Amino acid sequence: MSTIDGLPPLRDVIATHDLRAKKALGQNFLLDLNLTARIARSAGDLSGSDVLEIGPGPGGLTRGLLAEGARHVLAIEKDSRAMAALAEIADHYPGRLEVMNADALEVDVEAHLTPPIRICANLPYNVGTELLTRWLTPKTWPPFWTSLTLMFQREVANRIVAEPGSKAYGRLAILSQWRTDPRIVMELPPEAFTPAPKVHSAVVHLTALPEPRFPANAGTLSRVTAMAFQQRRKMMRASLKGLHPEVEDLLTSAGIKPTDRPETVPLEKFCALARAVDAAG
Ligand code: SAM
Repeated sequence: MSTIDGLPPLRDVIATHDLRAKKALGQNFLLDLNLTARIARSAGDLSGSDVLEIGPGPGGLTRGLLAEGARHVLAIEKDSRAMAALAEIADHYPGRLEVMNADALEVDVEAHLTPPIRICANLPYNVGTELLTRWLTPKTWPPFWTSLTLMFQREVANRIVAEPGSKAYGRLAILSQWRTDPRIVMELPPEAFTPAPKVHSAVVHLTALPEPRFPANAGTLSRVTAMAFQQRRKMMRASLKGLHPEVEDLLTSAGIKPTDRPETVPLEKFCALARAVDAAG
């Protein structure tokens, strides 16, 4: 059977290289190259960008990214069994694919990439939120990347884009929406993957804003939201009691009723509260 890029179909790649999925590595592969090309396209215009991909596995999304014109792809894969399959893709696209056999949590990627940089990945579920949190909390803003296009469990995707007042609204929504514009761009049923996971998945595209939506110190905002959402059914004045002796005044000055629950407080007011905390010393 022929494929759009002339490389073997992914089922053959998996059979040839004996890439049976390992649960411990979060391996649920996408074998439909039309689908991986669609995910690559949802990352935006790749032609002038370097792309970082975490967890290429047998290389379905990697092939999508290269076929869609990515200038250079750095693909980091922990599973050494996938190296031979990825080397075949690198040979097919000379000079455009660099593969690293490493744990993505351990690599300093910036040294290997030239801006503009986009990140696109079907993330292993076990490290997905850890990587997202790291990408959203760099030392300085704007970050080294211009956009993130990431596959998550649908439940995690919903938490990233959640609005105040919804069950999914919490720290991840605030962290994501403070400095990026996040959108769900695709939903996928379990059958889209081999093997099929138990849950639905979704692709989220997050574009880095040039500056935060509302001013606040990143550390203070993180501290305030961690305390507020530790018990989401508690009133703000109770959860934040330890924050400052005059916490009720600070809440009021930020436009928050002390009796409000954190899940109803919008991002703008959390930022106002973080500023009030810093101003109060
Ligand atoms: N991109 C492929 C696809 O779409 O078919 C595979 C996606 S699969 C959900 C996740 C991949 O991440 C697996 O290939 C797994 O081996 C790899 N992986 C898991 N943990 C990793 C880590 N810490 N660093 C790099 N890769 C990792």
